[in-house]
Amino acid sequence: MYRSHTCGELRLADAGKEVTLAGWVQRIRDKGALVWIDLRDRYGITQLFLDSNSDPKLVEQARTFGREFVIQAKGTVIERESKNPNMPTGDIEIRVNGFTLLNSSKTPPFTIEDNSDGGDDLRMKYRYLDLRRTPVRQNLELRHRMAMLVRNYLSDLNFMEIETPMLIKSTPEGARDFVVPSRMNPGEFYALPQSPQQYKQLLMVAGFDRYFQIVRCFRDEDLRADRQPEFTQIDCEMSFVEQEDVLNTFEGLAKHLFKEMKGLEFDQFPRMTWHDAMKYYGSDKPDIRFGMKFVELNEVVKGKGFGLFDNAELVVGINALGCSEYTRKQLDALTEFVKRPQVGAGGMVYIKYNTDGTFKSSVDKFYTPDDLKAIAEKFGSKPGDLMLILCGEAMKTRVQLNALRLEMGNQLGLRDPNKYAPLWVIDFPLLEWDEETQRYYAMHHPFTAPKPEDEALLDDPSKWGDIRANAYDIVMNGVEVGGGSIRIHDRTLQNKMFHTLGFTDEKAQEQFGFLMGAFEYGAPPHAGLAFGFDRLCSLFGGADSIRDFIAFPKNNAGRDVMSGSPAPIAQEQLDELQIGLNLKI
Ligand code: ASP
Repeated sequence: MYRSHTCGELRLADAGKEVTLAGWVQRIRDKGALVWIDLRDRYGITQLFLDSNSDPKLVEQARTFGREFVIQAKGTVIERESKNPNMPTGDIEIRVNGFTLLNSSKTPPFTIEDNSDGGDDLRMKYRYLDLRRTPVRQNLELRHRMAMLVRNYLSDLNFMEIETPMLIKSTPEGARDFVVPSRMNPGEFYALPQSPQQYKQLLMVAGFDRYFQIVRCFRDEDLRADRQPEFTQIDCEMSFVEQEDVLNTFEGLAKHLFKEMKGLEFDQFPRMTWHDAMKYYGSDKPDIRFGMKFVELNEVVKGKGFGLFDNAELVVGINALGCSEYTRKQLDALTEFVKRPQVGAGGMVYIKYNTDGTFKSSVDKFYTPDDLKAIAEKFGSKPGDLMLILCGEAMKTRVQLNALRLEMGNQLGLRDPNKYAPLWVIDFPLLEWDEETQRYYAMHHPFTAPKPEDEALLDDPSKWGDIRANAYDIVMNGVEVGGGSIRIHDRTLQNKMFHTLGFTDEKAQEQFGFLMGAFEYGAPPHAGLAFGFDRLCSLFGGADSIRDFIAFPKNNAGRDVMSGSPAPIAQEQLDELQIGLNLKI
């Protein structure tokens, strides 16, 4: 028996017990006659203790241990003289009467404690050591608990977890595929799934009317802090359902997670149309932990001789409660913020509603106090508030104001990571125009159904941008944590959709023939969604980065610095795959 207990479980009630523990030496404190060792395993840390009454050989042996040595210690549980209330095992220690060295260790490149001295890169290179640290380990524990809750919840609702293939056919829509050459079929390639979308729809045709899978997906996209080339989805699909059924089912799952993980209960999640989300928050994933809704000002600001506003398609602003005392410097900084290339506004107008009821603005030249009062009324501002206004092309300006709103939310401490504000964003547009390729793309994916009342617009290309989809996203704290749609299950409508997206019959047949073929054998009405599991975990863990919740993540350049992938492969491997590389070196 290597151990009788873990390093996290002994308490005062165990005093007097003879125990055997095994773990890693986190720290040794050697005070001459007294030696303490912090022994760590996955469950916690227990203090080992030796003093002048201990066998001197044991003390000698303890002095040979270094950090991260793996040892086994036998001894008696005793009450500690100076207790540590910050540790669950802090009331006891083990008076050691025997050690076995199980393995030695090189000195680790950084300290393996809650606060490490290792930088990001170093900790990634030695991820297996970083994972020994409690906060990192706890993130993976959270992930595990979430996965178990999801599985049990969905299974109780009759969802079946079914695995779908990882080697599939490349499809041109969506993000870029990762491809895998086929040795047995020279010159041909598999793709790794961006999602199991088509397979889960086939499972509906096959009659598995409730499917889910916690599944790895792959997208060869440019990376950002919250993106990984491989990531995990809770992928779900249901048959014989309407949008309402899907929203309720997965709102139920989200509520279950909040309750079990956070002890939080929610009423029905608010629902907002995509149109309203853009109009009032400038984002399809609004952070509604705080207000500061957009107020459109065209009717109160135009016609007063201020050219910038007069010529703008949209003048729109936010009201920052209690910020009228913002200094010149703070306001300049905000102007600089909106002018950064990432935001891209030309400038910012402010109106201070001073506590004495007067106004001070950057446009005093053009607007009388009465004009400013009318604007303030439009905003619903009170003395003490600060109005911040942008103008320009409508959609662009909204997106810019979204950045400013979030920045103000940050500055005013309104984006508390311990507060959760979930909502559904519904009625997304079906199609999205792409300037570069001059064509429409499916905003969600080509299998998403238009709203029945908008279906006729598919016959009029000038109206394509107006078609709404039965598509929905679940958003929490300004983060899109999931999304899905009602699917097209009718072959004729699907064909029409492919034509709209610029596919010829042959091309559609080549790319999606198997799905279309299946739809001729009785496809039930179906719908689904997928949650981004890594993101959901980071949100529940109160962290920004999804990397912290993945055991072995890639860095920002898509590299695994620990294993050194991606890496060149040997010429023989390339030859076997019959891949000729024309490398210009
Ligand atoms: N497959 C979709 C996605 O990955 C989700 C869905 O429509 O179910 O975003």
